[in-house]
Amino acid sequence: MSSFFETKIELLRGVNAQKAEWLNKELGIFTFADLIEYYPFRHEDRTQFHKISEISEDMFAAQIIGRIVSVELVGGTGKQRLVATFRDGTSHMELVWFQSISYFQKFLKPNAEYVIYGKPVWFGGNFSITHPEIDLLTANNNKKGYFQSIYSLTEKLRKQYIDSKTISIWIKNLLDIADPYINETIPASLCAKYRLIPKNYALRWLHVPRSFEELHQAQRRLKFEELFYNQLRLIKLSLVRKNDYAGQVFQKTTLLTEFYTNHLPFDLTNAQKRVVKEIFEDLKSGKQMNRLIQGDVGSGKTIVAFISMLMAIDGGAQACMMAPTEILAQQHYVNLKKFGELLGVRIEILTGSSKKKDRTVIHEALLSGDLKILVGTHALLEDIVQFKNLGLVVIDEQHRFGVAQRAKLWEKNKVFYPHMMVMTATPIPRTLAMTLFGDLDHSEIDEMPPGRKPIVTVHRYDANRLKVFEFMRDELKKGRQIYIVYPLIEESEKLDLKNLYDGYESIERAFPGVPLSIVHGKMKPKDKEYEMQRFKKGETKLMVATTVIEVGVDVPNASVMVIESAQRFGLSQLHQLRGRVGRGADQSFCILMTDYKLSKDTQKRLNTMVQTENGFLISQVDLELRGPGDMSGTQQSGLVDLKIANLAKDEQILKIAREEAFRILKQDPNLEMADHLPIKLHIDKIKNKELSWNRIS
Ligand code: ADP
Ligand code: MG
Repeated sequence: MSSFFETKIELLRGVNAQKAEWLNKELGIFTFADLIEYYPFRHEDRTQFHKISEISEDMFAAQIIGRIVSVELVGGTGKQRLVATFRDGTSHMELVWFQSISYFQKFLKPNAEYVIYGKPVWFGGNFSITHPEIDLLTANNNKKGYFQSIYSLTEKLRKQYIDSKTISIWIKNLLDIADPYINETIPASLCAKYRLIPKNYALRWLHVPRSFEELHQAQRRLKFEELFYNQLRLIKLSLVRKNDYAGQVFQKTTLLTEFYTNHLPFDLTNAQKRVVKEIFEDLKSGKQMNRLIQGDVGSGKTIVAFISMLMAIDGGAQACMMAPTEILAQQHYVNLKKFGELLGVRIEILTGSSKKKDRTVIHEALLSGDLKILVGTHALLEDIVQFKNLGLVVIDEQHRFGVAQRAKLWEKNKVFYPHMMVMTATPIPRTLAMTLFGDLDHSEIDEMPPGRKPIVTVHRYDANRLKVFEFMRDELKKGRQIYIVYPLIEESEKLDLKNLYDGYESIERAFPGVPLSIVHGKMKPKDKEYEMQRFKKGETKLMVATTVIEVGVDVPNASVMVIESAQRFGLSQLHQLRGRVGRGADQSFCILMTDYKLSKDTQKRLNTMVQTENGFLISQVDLELRGPGDMSGTQQSGLVDLKIANLAKDEQILKIAREEAFRILKQDPNLEMADHLPIKLHIDKIKNKELSWNRIS
């Protein structure tokens, strides 16, 4: 942005040095640009005033003008609350404060007129609002209502009396002087074609709308801008690669044929065959492959990866496979090694816990070309890991890794970038795929291997635990094994473990004499592995675990998955966990345990799980409920950093933005046309801020 927008925030009217420091620390707002781009996440309609007689409990909030009739301190020490009776011409209600009581005792003047705003609740024969927003009625707020923009804030800021109203005032001050400095970022032709309002209007109407219409126009315009630049970047990346990056040609099939003829453990599904073919086409093409493989849990992605690796090895190159966790890497290693041994292909594993002397051996074998396949975790990214000729990179469970990590693996080969294959753990919705992986070609394994029985999924309340235990006992008697999973409470590892151990003890009591395993994230990989193996061999029958078993565990005889406090898991995670059972010939079950108090969202999550096993459907519901930031756990947040667009709702805008970005880059790859000047200028501006733009332009 121009230097105006680089102005330090403390120079804004209303913001002093001390407040600026709070904005720096709590919200990362340092400059005018930061503030103007600090978008509100919702707007409250203060254009309407209500009468007390009109209010009802299903109102999200009510805004009322009235008088305080009386103020009373109720309850004993420690439980005190301040209760005011509030009256307008139609009826009366209560306003209640549990905090800042002495402040409000002074502030509330009997008989003075106030505007209040808050969520009405029916309680004890009265409507009441707890901690309402309350202002003395003035000429300002009397006549006309307004929209209050709501900004995400922290508790610390609120303690400094910096709330959404304060932020609004500062932003208004800024908007009053910023107008001449706001540059248009969208070509005029696009603005005209899609009736997008100019950028300066959009910013004003988003922060300070006077009507829903203005707000809507502002949002549409800014969402388009955000998605347009997101797509422009990804498409540019993929065009650059397609045009500029040659790839090694792999077309020999010696090992591959041997594998197909003598060692294939089962017939591939049609979906697997199709995807293998798509990959083979890429590897023969002479262009570097960048392909996303989507497939539900259990759809058989691993063998597709192995077959692709054989193509690379047949072509005289090496392959590596990166997984997000040690356990998953281990699992892949064990599976791949079985195949590798049949073919005489050397495979090793490298993780954070690999011993120094093993590492040295691996590093050397990689350089000599003796080692063909390396499986591992993030440890693969280290600079010291160098290959003789890395031809194919497979990234499993990709959406936990960022674009930057993808790039790091690219650079492991000198002459040609390696071909890249990215596999998702579970399907992700189309919009998310477009924004996260818009630079990749897509393949879908949309068919399950034959003979899988549907998993019976039920929801049970904690109160019915004894019945659930009975059921588990019956399954154990049939020789089955059972997982019992406890949630990870991320704020506190200690609590987390306590939870798990309490669970372990109660299971131990309920199932005397049944051998138990326990696995959690704090264990040493060696010990984890030992316990996993015991369970896998059938030496233990019950596996008590945290979500570390989410990925990578393959125990066909385990047919029951009990998920404790299921309300704490996201949908994708529940789906992942459920995918651990249903791998053998027996009927499998998934039991979701919760207590009684469930939010609407939780109910929807659980119902979705009970009703469907379709991962594509589940991911869509997950996106709608949680937004992309939270999908599949914390690791992913920040990956799709969207300020205003909502991937669950804005699919249409995304589609158009993508089409337009594509059209423009095809027509004018270097953005030299006059109409595209705003794009060029905008990219130049953000280039300084972001590394990834530098890489591609
Ligand atoms: P995911 O896609 O979740 O990674 P996996 O590759 O782990 O799935 O495969 C799940 C299970 O299905 C494995 O036990 C695998 O051996 C088996 N499998 C994969 N493809 C087939 C197939 N075509 N026919 C039968 N079983 C298969
Ligand atoms: Mg897998």
